[in-house]
Amino acid sequence: NIFPGDFSGNTMQRQTKNILFTTVKPVEFSDYSLLHFNSHLAENIGLGKFSKEDIPFLAAQNLPENIEPYATTYAGHQFGNWAGQLGDGRAIYAGEIKADSGNSTELQWKGAGATPFSRSADGRAVLRSSIREYLMSEAMHQLNIPTTRALSICYTGEKVLRDIMYSGNPAYEKGAVILRTGESLLRFGHFELISAQKNIPLLKQLTDFTIENYFPEISTTGAQKYKDFFESVCKKTAILMVDWLRVGFVHGVMNTDNMSILGLTIDYGPYSMVDAFDLNFTPNTTDLPGRRYAFGKQAQVSQWNLWQLANALQPLIEDADFLQKILEDYSSYFWELNDKMMANKFGLNEVLPEDEKFFIESQKLMTDLELDYTLFFQHLEKYVEEKTYDLPLEEISYKILNDDDIRKYGDFLFLYSTRLSKNTISKRESLALMETANPKFILRNYLLFECIEELNEGKYELFNELWEALQNPYKEIFPKFSTKKPEKYNEVAGCSML
Ligand code: AMP
Ligand code: MG
Ligand code: MG
Repeated sequence: NIFPGDFSGNTMQRQTKNILFTTVKPVEFSDYSLLHFNSHLAENIGLGKFSKEDIPFLAAQNLPENIEPYATTYAGHQFGNWAGQLGDGRAIYAGEIKADSGNSTELQWKGAGATPFSRSADGRAVLRSSIREYLMSEAMHQLNIPTTRALSICYTGEKVLRDIMYSGNPAYEKGAVILRTGESLLRFGHFELISAQKNIPLLKQLTDFTIENYFPEISTTGAQKYKDFFESVCKKTAILMVDWLRVGFVHGVMNTDNMSILGLTIDYGPYSMVDAFDLNFTPNTTDLPGRRYAFGKQAQVSQWNLWQLANALQPLIEDADFLQKILEDYSSYFWELNDKMMANKFGLNEVLPEDEKFFIESQKLMTDLELDYTLFFQHLEKYVEEKTYDLPLEEISYKILNDDDIRKYGDFLFLYSTRLSKNTISKRESLALMETANPKFILRNYLLFECIEELNEGKYELFNELWEALQNPYKEIFPKFSTKKPEKYNEVAGCSML
């Protein structure tokens, strides 16, 4: 089913029954140039050394004859409601490459022009949102969190009209295109679409394809195979949610079309790392006042999303009791992983029955004292190392502190030292746990904001520093990044909607 050409200005979205993808042609950019190339990733996925001749491909230009780019359809539940057919509105697949290791990687341009699924939008991406995805996806990868990555970011030379945060004041921004990668970019929504269309043979075909290619651990057959598949997706999703909580990542738009079937972090939109610990924090201004996708709700929402996937897979599994049971077990599986993760953050080698209370106490402390989530655990590492109570609380708190706050902090440290004394590992081993669980560098929203401002002025220094810092997030490379968010940014959401 071939729809060649540029679809910009096409306000009709194609409804494509029985079809999962259409071929499309990226738009022509007359004045494109490379901003950055991710050579680590190129190595990881089996690409050779970068050469200047690769730039047109990275910008989706002058493609060789044997590449047939395509866009896929998917559906989704957005903010809790069935949104019907959606699709790659500004993502175009270049195809897949195989490394000598046997690993395969899908490549997809984001921002290379409209597709039949763009609805009334332009299929373009701006420098702001592209930099946010390019840097953050790599930062997440280096934090050891499953994620899509990006091989390159190019300026397209176009000016693209955007209304940031729907302010009513649209302005032109620099256009950009990234080349996104992932073992597979399939979403829950791909399964939901075919299931909603009641095309069970195609649903079976897609699920079989997914299992065969991406779930090699599954060796069962018949309905059991699909049960194992669903259970595996649940586990991968729980692992991802715990990882997000560990580092303070808030996705911001956990619609089912933004949920990867492989449990990867996908679709970097209005995400943000948390500065002050706040379970109610959402970076998504369109998610107020409901805060459906707030920091502390992500696990719950992922379970809701898995319910939608269960519904979609129901025709293959049939056993509704089984699906219900797996979804109920999801909670206990999540909590078990979460408690283990929290224990690691505190340098505890096992989870004791009383720890749930201790973890809740710590969250209460962080919330009440408006503690910076990342810096708090840096403080605790120092505390474990030096057993000093003499830690400057104002360096990690966003609050105007009073004596009561200082006392609360002291009380907590006392509680912590009592808990540490029950550890059955050495101080060294305890610190080693903390050092792998607690990042020293996180890509804070204000840093991205400043980086984008600088790039718009043609300055690359901060971009290069951030790129270097995010390669080793468990080390402190630039002490200037290991500080609180500056006060002047308190009012800046600095996030990107499109
Ligand atoms: P998101 O909120 O990023 O998950 O996007 C929701 C849907 O809108 C997805 O199907 C996107 O492909 C589509 N979309 C977002 N931005 C654009 C754009 N600039 N042009 C075309 N489609 C877009
Ligand atoms: Mg999306
Ligand atoms: Mg998006």
